[in-house]
Amino acid sequence: MKDKSVTNLSTDSITSNFIRSIIDNDKRTGKWLGRVETRFPPEPNGYLHIGHAKSICLNFGLANDYKGVCHLRFDDTNPEKEAQEYVDAICENVAWLGFDWGKHLHYSSDYFDKLYAFAEHLINHGKAYVDSLNADEIREQRGTLTSPGKNSPYRERAVAESLDLFQRMRAGEFSDGAHVLRVKIDMASPNINMRDPVIYRIRHVHHQRTGDKWSIYPMYDYTHCVSDALENITHSLCTLEFEDHRPLYDWVLDQLQGIVPCHPQQIEFARLNLTYTVMSKRKLIELVEGGNVEGWDDPRLSTLAGVRRRGYTPKSIRLFADRIGVSKADSWIDVSVLEDCLREDLNECAPRRIAVLRPLKVIIDNYPDDQQEDCQAPNHPQKPEWGKRVAPFSKVLYIERDDFMEQPSKGYFRLSPGAEVRLRYAFIIKCVQVEKSTDGEIEAIHCTYDPDTKSGTAGAAKRKVKGNIHWLSAKHALQVEARLYDRLFADAYPDAGSKNYRESLNPDSKETIIAYVEQSLSEAEPEQRFQFERIGYFVADRIDSQSGKPVFNRAVTLRDSWEKVVDSKGQSKG
Ligand code: ATP
Ligand code: MG
Repeated sequence: MKDKSVTNLSTDSITSNFIRSIIDNDKRTGKWLGRVETRFPPEPNGYLHIGHAKSICLNFGLANDYKGVCHLRFDDTNPEKEAQEYVDAICENVAWLGFDWGKHLHYSSDYFDKLYAFAEHLINHGKAYVDSLNADEIREQRGTLTSPGKNSPYRERAVAESLDLFQRMRAGEFSDGAHVLRVKIDMASPNINMRDPVIYRIRHVHHQRTGDKWSIYPMYDYTHCVSDALENITHSLCTLEFEDHRPLYDWVLDQLQGIVPCHPQQIEFARLNLTYTVMSKRKLIELVEGGNVEGWDDPRLSTLAGVRRRGYTPKSIRLFADRIGVSKADSWIDVSVLEDCLREDLNECAPRRIAVLRPLKVIIDNYPDDQQEDCQAPNHPQKPEWGKRVAPFSKVLYIERDDFMEQPSKGYFRLSPGAEVRLRYAFIIKCVQVEKSTDGEIEAIHCTYDPDTKSGTAGAAKRKVKGNIHWLSAKHALQVEARLYDRLFADAYPDAGSKNYRESLNPDSKETIIAYVEQSLSEAEPEQRFQFERIGYFVADRIDSQSGKPVFNRAVTLRDSWEKVVDSKGQSKG
């Protein structure tokens, strides 16, 4: 799946797919008079995840490309599990991804009156009946994949009796579960979804939008197709598990022909499966409530709130959706594809800064105690127009601990006793002495610098050394909290088979450290992203950063450090 050949970040370039072919064909035949109207229909019972982003980018993307419209519709027919908090978060996520539903913000609950009237229509036409079996009895009589179901004894109930019962269900006369409304299709159908499915059940619960008006609520399969039709949707895109529900979708709309404005076409596509991730709402809730992560927006989660906080850009996610494409075949995408999309975007747009995560003190013995001077560091190596910033140089510096080795291994070109390296944007230094504590820990190293080798001067060009490391002037550096995030799961397929996904949690998915960064980063705005040179891409945390006191989250390392791990296990890379 990893397509290294795609380097163009533009998400305008259109990759064709089978859904586009259907739409193109409809345009040719004039089926919808050229209209393209799609919808993204989340249930407000949890936070959106990266899988939903695939569906959002697809639905809104098609509407944009074909100059159509895309609706945001909350499928809110299960009041027990739904909440306004989720509605708000979903709206925020979709807008963050860069999509606009305009005036098309809808709720299935807006259609409760119509859905009810259509249900009466079905009863009146002998297409629906009130069943008084309980849920267990209905399940028992449903049959199996290999044996047909049985007709309910209430199936031939008189129309007038069903109508009366249904009206009294609505009026709240019965307790939960006393009756249901079922459509009358075929109890022997090889497709279990067609065996007289329930379309209304009694639930005496408060609804976040309709209050206590209803004590019966319509089921998803009935609500969804009718809502699509009422909104004049042309192409109703959903994931493959709904393929077996399509005959029911079509059956309901066929019964309502002439009553609802149109009969949209349901088209199924493969859902996104991402390695090292779990995506079902149930599992996400368990991780949040079980304290395995620090909330819905934990930067290690695959929720959109989480990836946003991690430092992902809307553009990188749109690029990802574009790159993985849409098809009918279920497949796994390696999470490195997503990470690469972020690297590509941030490589372009993130200014460069210096940070030292694990400091080692370097003392320049031949540099005067109270002297300091300016070095010039470019803000982006390929964008001279972004200018340069000052990196102050002084006698005491910090470098990364792993840029020094007392006994260098073969091929190690960074600092070691007697060796020389270039301090990026500054001078060549040579290690002359190692200072240790009584228990043998390296506390500092002493170096000399060559004043004739300053970067950007003629002298610099005359001397070449292999190593080139970053550094900060100790007295100018700013201490900040940095969180080094890694994948939440150590296993590529945490919820495969019968294993419990929690056993695959990566114990090292978060490390909090105190790092040193350039002074200028005290001004970093929440959500501003940077490349810390030679280390990775970081974002100023949008929640915990305070004015003058940013907290940095590592969004992604500069290269995929997991590639080896996956390959050595012989697992597919998607
Ligand atoms: P989950 O199964 O992860 O709990 P859901 O399917 O119950 O999520 P909905 O609110 O019903 O969540 O989903 C809204 C839309 O997003 C649906 O059209 C659904 O098909 C789509 N969707 C959900 N998960 C994915 C996924 N992994 N890949 C692509 N589309 C998805
Ligand atoms: Mg669902």
